[in-house]
Order: sequence, then C-alpha cells, then structure tokens
Amino acid sequence: MEDPRLALGEALAAAADTLRHHRDLGLTEIACQMTSSRDPGAELAAQERALQGCPRCKLSKSRSTVVFGSGNPRARFVVIGEGPGEEEDKQGKPFVGRAGQLLTKMLASVKFDRERDCYICNVVKCRPERNRNPEPDEVAACNPFLLAQLDTIQPAVILAMGNFAAQAMLGTKDGITKLRGRAYSYRDSVLVPTFHPAFLLRNPGDQYKRMAWDDLKLARREWERLTSG
Ligand code: URA
Repeated sequence: MEDPRLALGEALAAAADTLRHHRDLGLTEIACQMTSSRDPGAELAAQERALQGCPRCKLSKSRSTVVFGSGNPRARFVVIGEGPGEEEDKQGKPFVGRAGQLLTKMLASVKFDRERDCYICNVVKCRPERNRNPEPDEVAACNPFLLAQLDTIQPAVILAMGNFAAQAMLGTKDGITKLRGRAYSYRDSVLVPTFHPAFLLRNPGDQYKRMAWDDLKLARREWERLTSG
C-alpha cells in the first residue's frame, strides 16, 4: 500500500498548486464551505468578480462589459461560443442576439432549457471590435478563466460552436465541417463540435441544419450516458 505520508504530501502539494493558480488569476476570494458540498454558483460568482475591469488584453480597450457566462452553474452541459457580439457586449450576457435566439431553439429541440439545463459562455469574454476573430494573444489571456469555469462546473458534455471555438479547444486548424459529427475527449469532459448558430443564420438551407441537429442529438445522448439524465 502507498505510504500515507507520501499521499498526504502529494495532496497538499496539489492544493498548493491550485491556490497558486487561483492567485495568479487574480482571485482574491476562495468560496469554501465546511461541508463537503461544493457551491459552483459561489465559485463562478467569485471568478466573475475577479474579472471585472480586466485589463489583460487589448479587447479591454473597446469592450463595454465583460461577458462572463450565464445559466445553471450545476448544469453538466456547457455551451461555448467564440466571443460576445454587440448585443452581448451591451447586456453583459452571452448569446442574447439573433444567434442566441436560434441557439435557444436548437437546445430546446433536444429538450434542453438554456437557463435550467445549460451553462453558456465564450472562449473570450470581451467583444472583439466589429466581431473580428479573437487573436491568439487574446485567447491565451482569457484561457485560464475559461479553464477555471470548466473546473468549477465539471461538465459532462461541452458543445463547442463554430470553427473558432472548436479549433481553439481542440488545438487544431481543421475546419468545423471536418471536426463535427463525432465526440472528442477534452480534459474530463466529452466535447461535441457543431456549427455556430450565426453560420446557420447565414446559410439557411436544410443541409447544415440537419447536420447541426445530428450533433445536438449526439451531445444529448452523451450527456444522458454520462449523467444518467
Ligand atoms: N456569438 C458568440 O460566439 N457568442 C456570443 O455570446 C454571441 C454570439
């Protein structure tokens, strides 16, 4: 059997690593409870507070609001887009414009209510001017915050929407048409790439809609398999 002193030493070293990581992110609060039940809502709220006024990349110069994320912190289904658009920048919530309305319907088509069953966020939390693609330094600056969100939520399934989110998360240059249609292992979750709703709005034929629906059904099945939902 493993030496218990060794195991304790390793556990304490891991805890110290986590605390250093949180300090480097600028987190000044630790949400903790004396019971074993975690409170992902409190953890996310602390992360969101730490991001207010974030100056870490050039997106901070033009944004109005940091769009952290919204939905159910205990949902084990996370939807990730590229970055906030104009409407999201105004309202401080992800996917509230036209693409967001379509996303709500897409989720409902597989019996997910977006507020009750999902948590929705973006690769970058601030709007790129004129909705250009986020640049690598901007993605790198925001990545620790996305990872902290995912560590808190511990999603069973992540739906990565669009070329940009799927490529950023899977670390590939392959396009969404090639990536979609299957599930990938991503950290402790399963990641399902699909078309971005804004792309579906620009390409209204049945062809892409059908593929997106197949992806959503796959994501739903994976979620049921992993959560017995
Ligand atoms: N597109 C995105 O990728 N994210 C949003 O929040 C809105 C539109």
